[in-house]
Amino acid sequence: MSKYITTPIYYVNGEAHIGHAYTTFIADTTARYERLKGNKTLFLTGTDEHGQKIEESAQKNAKPTQEFADEISATFKNLWDEFEISYSKFIRTTDKDHMVGVQKAFVKMLEKDDIYKDFYEGHYCVSCETFFPETQLVDGEFCPDCGRTTSIVKEESYFFRLSKYEDKLLQHYKENPDFIMPRSRANEITNFVKGGLHDLSVTRTSFTWGVKMPKSLHDDKHVIYVWLDALLNYITALGYGDDEADMNFWPASTHFVGKDILRFHAIYWPAFLMSLDLPLPKTIGAHGWWTRDGEKMSKSKGNVVSPKEVSDAYGVENLRYFMLREVPFGQDGDFSQRALIDRINSELSNDLGNLLNRIIGMSGKYSAYEIDSTDVAKYHTQELDAIDKVLDSLDHYMSEIQIHRYLEELWKLFSIGNAAITEHEPWVKIKDNETDKALATVALVANILAKAAIMLSPIMPKTTTTIANALNFEINNKSYNELVVNKKLLKLFNIKKVPPLFPRVEAPLMQEVLQAEANSSKVEKKSSKKKEKFESAANFGENLIEIGDFFETSLKVGTVLEAENVPKSKKLLKLKVSLGVNDTRQIVAGIRESYSAESLVETQVCVVANLKPTKLMGIMSEGMLLAAKDEDGLSLIRPEKPKKAGTLIG
Ligand SMILES: [Zn+2]
Repeated sequence: MSKYITTPIYYVNGEAHIGHAYTTFIADTTARYERLKGNKTLFLTGTDEHGQKIEESAQKNAKPTQEFADEISATFKNLWDEFEISYSKFIRTTDKDHMVGVQKAFVKMLEKDDIYKDFYEGHYCVSCETFFPETQLVDGEFCPDCGRTTSIVKEESYFFRLSKYEDKLLQHYKENPDFIMPRSRANEITNFVKGGLHDLSVTRTSFTWGVKMPKSLHDDKHVIYVWLDALLNYITALGYGDDEADMNFWPASTHFVGKDILRFHAIYWPAFLMSLDLPLPKTIGAHGWWTRDGEKMSKSKGNVVSPKEVSDAYGVENLRYFMLREVPFGQDGDFSQRALIDRINSELSNDLGNLLNRIIGMSGKYSAYEIDSTDVAKYHTQELDAIDKVLDSLDHYMSEIQIHRYLEELWKLFSIGNAAITEHEPWVKIKDNETDKALATVALVANILAKAAIMLSPIMPKTTTTIANALNFEINNKSYNELVVNKKLLKLFNIKKVPPLFPRVEAPLMQEVLQAEANSSKVEKKSSKKKEKFESAANFGENLIEIGDFFETSLKVGTVLEAENVPKSKKLLKLKVSLGVNDTRQIVAGIRESYSAESLVETQVCVVANLKPTKLMGIMSEGMLLAAKDEDGLSLIRPEKPKKAGTLIG
């Protein structure tokens, strides 16, 4: 089977932000997943470079328009290359063969009498390159999309008979429930079409930066409107109107788009395709927007997240994992360093990274790094059944573009692995001379890691290659079929040591940005920061710190596992506190006057986790509890609801 996956072509009026990265990560993940399954896959991305806005931006930058477009387009391409995005083709709407394809499509639509010439008069927003009916304007004047002043424009224009396709579109939505994903968005599109479609102006005479009219029409003052030009990229990239080399990839499996351009993709695009007598794409997948720390991102606020900056600080694969795991497809997501760090530490480092380290360690100790899976089925039927169940469930989530659920399910494999180690205690079996049992458990977990790595590879291709190297196998369609589809185990192999995959992150790594965030409301320059700090401090009667200073402190939720009195001390208790898997601390706390040792066991506390260890009464203390004290005594600060041990506070 062949698959065709696309991102939108990105408009070259600014550099890539986190939203572009998100669309691209989803499309890349989907394309990698299809390849893993053995499907011939074409993955398209690129840049949209025409229109009045680009012409104006180039003028502002005192550059020839093409040069300006070249530069911005290159920033996208370079970023995707740096991120190792596996696109098959990078299309630019200024490519010659694309422009030829657009002209051919235009002629075909004309021949079908789907395009006609008339006059257009309306309220036009230059920035959005859209005419708006008067009823949609804000205060009768401003653009409903961007808020800028619109102007009345009357111009000769060619029109596409969109109204002709109303019924056909409605019928298509009805018969193809997967056409718009998430399905919850289909209603809004259906209602829009039911409300009546106006014919669409598809040329402009007010500017020149666009695809020229086909020569045969002798109507040079028009250029083709950007939406028609842009949407056609999905077929010109396959050679439409030219050599048609890859047209066998059509129709597209999924066009991934942001929800702001869903309407163009779910209404205009299928109508254009119907006019061209081409089949419609299987799915238009519309994702939500990203906010930052709960706020809308904007240049003026200075809180736009640069994907490059985040990946430089945290690694691109951790960013990919975070974005795909954090947000259900279609919903809006929030980017915050705390949430990102939390997922790195608890899910990547604790659940996955530590499991691999434990297996490397145990196999080294017990069997000189040799893994033999022969006895796994003998001792671990239950676990194997549970693993198969998880593996069988995954494809459904990917095909529904529920990557967050896919990952959530996939993570159950690590729970099965960790639970198997806890339950079967290989170190005890080794002591008891039950070596084969111990080694079977180690082999079980090694196989779990191998299977999980295969299924995680579309999301984290590099990291999983490292895991596969450690386990001495390769991730490809062959191993996918053997280990995932046919449920086989890796037979006999040697483990290689690899450095820890996910070093824990103790404090946010983008300090400057955090400080900028803290100051964004004040719109001030760095030089005046100190003065501002001093003045504000005077107002509050406190020594104000930057938010970055606060995040220097790693605060975590801990679960008290054990507690006992410290002999010869009235105040001190010695606690064992879990801060997540593989992170158990001994903490000496001066709280005995308010809390008995027994009353603390299995309760939760808040712990300063990155305090330098110190000795109290000769006992090592590896953290500090948060508490408030007044004349009535001392009260521990606890999470209001139970939280996973190790959860970051902040
Ligand atoms: Zn606008």
